[in-house]
Amino acid sequence: MEEMLIFGHKSPDTDTICSSIVMSDFQKKLGKKVKPVRLGEINKETKFALNYFGFDAPELINSVSEGQEVILVDHNEFSQSVDGIENAKIRMVVDHHRVCDFNTAEPLYYRAEPVGCTNTILLKMYKENGFEIDKKLAGLMLSAIISDTLLLKSPTKTDEDEKAVKELAKIADVDYMSYGLEMLKAGTDLSDYTAEELIALDCKKCELKDKKAKVAQVNTADIPEMMKRKAEFEKAIKKDIEDNDLDLFVFAITDIINSNSQAIVLGKETQIFEKGFNKTLEDNTAFLPGVVSRKKQILPVLQENA
Ligand code: MN
Ligand code: MN
Repeated sequence: MEEMLIFGHKSPDTDTICSSIVMSDFQKKLGKKVKPVRLGEINKETKFALNYFGFDAPELINSVSEGQEVILVDHNEFSQSVDGIENAKIRMVVDHHRVCDFNTAEPLYYRAEPVGCTNTILLKMYKENGFEIDKKLAGLMLSAIISDTLLLKSPTKTDEDEKAVKELAKIADVDYMSYGLEMLKAGTDLSDYTAEELIALDCKKCELKDKKAKVAQVNTADIPEMMKRKAEFEKAIKKDIEDNDLDLFVFAITDIINSNSQAIVLGKETQIFEKGFNKTLEDNTAFLPGVVSRKKQILPVLQENA
């Protein structure tokens, strides 16, 4: 039996990486031969979580061959998935995003729930199957939920996420508030990244009607400090727009302490952003009070106004 590959989206975040490791553990408990893999570099926040709970990063892959059996976690859109996904055999999806442009040749297990994090769903699956979650794995699942919900402050957070955090913190034996702040802060140390790396670190491609856009996001505890590099960001974004023929690029610099974002917006369709947020860009930028979630507060606004 060939091993099934389990992975999350490109530009992996903490939920994507942890989901692939946790899902592998789950599948192994079911007796399946599986391997977690990743589609990009591990960010500092994820590195912190992996180190803290004693896990290695999954192996990096760039593409899958035809007929490869795969399980997708934390995504379903092919544009965010591995190269070659169109010809892979997708056996299962566990996700908490909208379903978009998704089709398969064969039947599959598909589980999607509108909760704040894939690991909240995975926790339910463990319980439904009567599987035990050990201390280390609980720590990993906890880290993912803290990351996706910005320590339960994001509007994407549901009651189920909150309950899961409390339950997992108990098993992992950590104080989730202090651990969570430490983990999120580890992810905001961005000084040694180039501007090109920062706009790619957590970036999602999306189609707005017939227009091509990217929405990238970084977390910080200090927006003014990040904005000192605005000219660098603009240069990197302009190059990406040119190289990939994009109509719009939104780069959200999100203050995870005060829950606001500063957006740098470029491209020939910036009026989509201006109309959606009812803001006039000044020098390619706008402040978005209370905006922290790309999924709930940025992408739908752009989609509605395209
Ligand atoms: Mn994710
Ligand atoms: Mn997620």
